[in-house]
Parts: sequence; C-alpha cells; structure tokens
Amino acid sequence: MKYAIFGDIHANLEALEAVLEDATKENCTDHVCVGDIVGYAANPCECVEMVRTMGCPTVKGNHDEEAVLETSLEGLNPLAKQAMEWTRNSLSPDDRDWLSNLKLVRQVRDFTIVHATLDTPGGWTYVTNKFDAMASFSYQFTQLCFYGHTHTPRIYVKGDSVDAVEEMSVDLEMGRKYFINVGSTGQPRDGDWRASYAIYDVEGQQVSIRRVRYNIEKAQEKIVAAGLPEMLAHRLALGK
Ligand code: ZN
Repeated sequence: MKYAIFGDIHANLEALEAVLEDATKENCTDHVCVGDIVGYAANPCECVEMVRTMGCPTVKGNHDEEAVLETSLEGLNPLAKQAMEWTRNSLSPDDRDWLSNLKLVRQVRDFTIVHATLDTPGGWTYVTNKFDAMASFSYQFTQLCFYGHTHTPRIYVKGDSVDAVEEMSVDLEMGRKYFINVGSTGQPRDGDWRASYAIYDVEGQQVSIRRVRYNIEKAQEKIVAAGLPEMLAHRLALGK
C-alpha cells in the first residue's frame, strides 16, 4: 500500500493533475492532503472539487481558513490581499462549507497530518529549523507526521536528538519519529519549480519526496487571464 501525500496546491490545477498522474504511475492507491488547496493561482474551485471527489483525508491550511472568513484583509500584503479577494469571490457556498469544516489535525491509519505545526496547529507558525521541529515533535504521538506550509520539502528525524536529513528519502526505523514536509504541489519555494509531494510506502517502510514537471505555462497564462497579479505567475517559474 502506498500513500501519495500532497499539499499547498494553491489553486494550481496543472500541478495537481501532474502529481496525481505521477502518483498513479508510482502505484499509489491512497491520497492525503495537508491543506492550502486554494489561494494564489486561478483554479480554486477545480482543485477543491478534485480533492473532494477523491474523498481523501484533508486538513485545513491557513489559506483555506482565510478564504472562508468574511473578515477584512487589511493586514495582508497587497499581492496576497488581491489574490485572496479573488479567491473568496470565486468559491461557491458549497466549497466554502466544505473548506470551513476541515479539521486542523487528523490521524490517518498510523500517521498524523497537519498543515503547519502540531504544537500550535491554528497559529500557523513555520517550522524552519530543528528547534521548531522539536516543539512539534513533543505533540506527535504517531511515528510519522506529514505537514506543509513552508513550501519546502524537508525530513526531520527524532532519535536521541532532532536532525534534518540531507536526502529526500528515508527508511523508517523503529524507535524514531519523523516529521516530514511534503513540499508544495502548486507553488514550491525551494528554488525548484517542479511540483512536490511525498510517497509513503507502508510495506517498504519508506518515505520519499518526488518532484514532477507540469504544464507551468498553462498555469501562468490562467493566472494572468484571471486578472490576478502577474507576479504570482512569474514566481512559479522561479520556484520562490
Ligand atoms: Zn501554502
């Protein structure tokens, strides 16, 4: 049994489709989403629809939360504000209901999923180093937890100490815990534009991060055509 675990799709339908296609080729049978389905790109409804239709376990991201609120967007930077206004206007009442009912943390089989951190899941803080990871590990009661939010894939391992591993793949060992950022499907920020997701091979006890090429030009054209800020199209190619 193999799980495909993805998140930070951010309304990039081309990237999501490419990830799902790759997951099928890799014989994944189950899908899991770590949140931020909407925000930034041009297909929020289509991406929500696709994740809903698959019926895969999903947790809420900060953009999913923001998209269903009716509060003022004054605090956001102009780019984010413009994109969020557009996203709010695009979603159907039904999409909004579904997004607002998502939980912040879920357990799936023998692993946990969360968007940002396990210590303050609704605070939307970022895990950017091993000290942040340590705080989250103290609330992790399964061997394995998948998360997103930073848009940068990373594997943290807790044995006697907590460390980030160099490789983008890890063999799970008894007595250790793993906090794994699956990277971003729709807007990677680690300098590599390709869509990112993770495969958890249950029998093989291995997790690996995969990168997938997708039709970036099409995603960029849609962003511009929708009247969203052009910078959002430009940054996709930079992987930032
Ligand atoms: Zn995100």
